[in-house]
Amino acid sequence: MVLAQLGGSISRALQQMSNATIIDEKVLNECLNEITRALLQSDVQFKLVRDMSTNIKKIVNLDDLAAGHNKRRIIQKAVFDELCKILDPGKPSFTPKKGKPSVVMFVGLQGSGKTTTSTKYAFYHQKKGWKPALVCADTFRAGAFDQLKQNATKAKIPFYGSYTESDPVKIAVDGVETFKKENCDLIIVDTSGRHKQEAALFEEMRQVSEATEPDLVIFVMDSSIGQAAFDQAQAFKQSVAVGAVIVTKMDGHAKGGGALSAVAATKSPVIFIGTGEHMDEFEVFDVKPFVSRLLGMGDWSGFMDKIHEVVPMDQQPELLQKLSEGHFTLRIMYEQFQNILKMGPIGQVFSMLPGFSAELMPKGREKESRAKIKRYMTMMDSMTNEELDSSNPKLMTESRIMRIARGSGRQVHEVMEMMEEYKRLAKIWSKMKGLKIPKKGEMSALSRNMNA
Ligand code: GDP
Repeated sequence: MVLAQLGGSISRALQQMSNATIIDEKVLNECLNEITRALLQSDVQFKLVRDMSTNIKKIVNLDDLAAGHNKRRIIQKAVFDELCKILDPGKPSFTPKKGKPSVVMFVGLQGSGKTTTSTKYAFYHQKKGWKPALVCADTFRAGAFDQLKQNATKAKIPFYGSYTESDPVKIAVDGVETFKKENCDLIIVDTSGRHKQEAALFEEMRQVSEATEPDLVIFVMDSSIGQAAFDQAQAFKQSVAVGAVIVTKMDGHAKGGGALSAVAATKSPVIFIGTGEHMDEFEVFDVKPFVSRLLGMGDWSGFMDKIHEVVPMDQQPELLQKLSEGHFTLRIMYEQFQNILKMGPIGQVFSMLPGFSAELMPKGREKESRAKIKRYMTMMDSMTNEELDSSNPKLMTESRIMRIARGSGRQVHEVMEMMEEYKRLAKIWSKMKGLKIPKKGEMSALSRNMNA
C-alpha cells in the first residue's frame, strides 16, 4: 500500500536530519518541509498537516534546548507523537459486550465496502465468542440483500432482510427485534449507500438510527477517496452520531492518508482496516503500532501476533525463551539470516522486528541486501563455536577479525561492518529482555509498553 511510501518518506526525512552535524532551525525546517510534503502527497488534509508542523515546532524549541539534549530524539518523538495524535481522537469507541444485546449500524457511501465490512465485523466477533446477526436495511441497491445473505451464509451468521418491503426503517426495526429475541448480542444493521452524499441518504440514515437506537455507528470509508475524505466523513458525522471508522481497501494502491483525516473529521477512532475482499482480511487497528510500522520502527504487537500465528507451536517456547533472555549471539543472528533468506515463517516474523527489515532489507534493495546477508554468513562460517555462542563482542580481537577476513576471503573492514550490524541488532534484541510473553489478545498492552 502507498502508506508504506509515506512512512518511507518520513523516515528518510528524519534520517537526513540525523545525518546533519548540527541540528539548527534550518535543518529542522527542511525535515518538517519534507514530512509536510509527504503527508500532503498521501492526501492528508492540509489543515491537519499544517497544525502538525506548527505543533512540532512548538514542542521542539531549539533555542530552549540545552546543549546536552538529544535533539534528534526529541524531534523524532515529536513526529511520532503528533502522527499518533492525528489518528487518536482521545476517546475509545464503544465496544460491544458479550451476552448483552448491542446494535451496531454501518453507514457509508455505496461501494465503500460497507456490506463486505459488516460481515467481516460480524465474523471477527463470532470467532471471539459473540453471537452476531446481520440485518440488511439497504433497500436502495438491487442485490444488496442477496450479497449480505450470501456472505452471512458463508460465515454461518444469522441474517434478516426482505425482497418485498421497501421501508428500510421497518426492516431495521423488525430485524433488531427478531435478533434481540433470539439473544444475539451483536446486531449489525447494514444501511443503504448512495453514489454521492445526498439529502435522501442522510435522511434515511437518520431515521434508521432514530428507530434502532444503535450503541455504535460505524462509518465505512474507502481508503482511495483521497482529499475528499475529511468532508465526506464530516458530512456523515453531522447526520448521525458516528462513533468509529473502518477504512477499507488498504491493500490497494490508495494513498491512504484520507484515513488520518477521517479521524479528525469524525473525532472517532479507526477501529479496523480492510485489507482484501475475503472475510478474514480484516485487521484490528491500533494507533501506536501502526505509526511505529509506518515509520519503520517495528510493530511489537504485530510481531508477537505473528509469532503465535506462524511459528510452529513446538518451536515457540524456545524462540520466546531466547527473546526473553535478551542474549543475542552471532549464532542467533546467523540462524535469523538463514530464515530471512528462506523467508520461511520465522523469516516473516523477523522481518517485522525493528531494524531487521527497514535497515537490513530496505524495500527495493532486496537483491543487494540478500547478497550482503550471504557475505555476512560466509564470514560467520569462519568463526569458532565459542565466538558464535557468545554475546560478548570483545572476544573479537583485532587478530581474530583479521583471521576471519582471511578465512572467508573478505576484507577486514567487511568483518568490522558485520560486527557493527551485530551490535545494532543486539541492541534491538535486548529490548525484549525480561519480556513477559503475553497470550493472544494481550498484544495491545504489550505494544503500548514497548512503544512508550
Ligand atoms: P457497499 O456498496 O459499500 O456495500 O460495498 P461492498 O461491500 O459491496 O464492496 C464493494 C467492493 O469492494 C466489493 O467488490 C468488495 O469485494 C470490495 N471490498 C470491500 N472491502 C475491501 C477491502 O478491504 N479490500 C479490497 N481489495 N476490496 C474490498
